[in-house]
Amino acid sequence: MREPMDEGDIAQDYQTRLNADALATHRHAETPGSAFPALPYCAWCEAEIPAARRLAQPGTTLCVDCQAAKERLAARPGEEG
Ligand SMILES: [Zn+2]
Repeated sequence: MREPMDEGDIAQDYQTRLNADALATHRHAETPGSAFPALPYCAWCEAEIPAARRLAQPGTTLCVDCQAAKERLAARPGEEG
């Protein structure tokens, strides 16, 4: 299990990660009979996404840390180090 990425790592290839996120969502949508309405592991850092979060956020593909980083980056596009 890798450590969650920091914001700089995520910003570095933000577009690549957005693509990975979209791909994970697509792949999940094609999986019939999923036990939970979201991925069990974060599409970015591969941390386990708690069942409570998956149930509360149907279709989520990111852990809390990565989701927060994504939202911060989305609010400030182009502000890369
Ligand atoms: Zn994550």
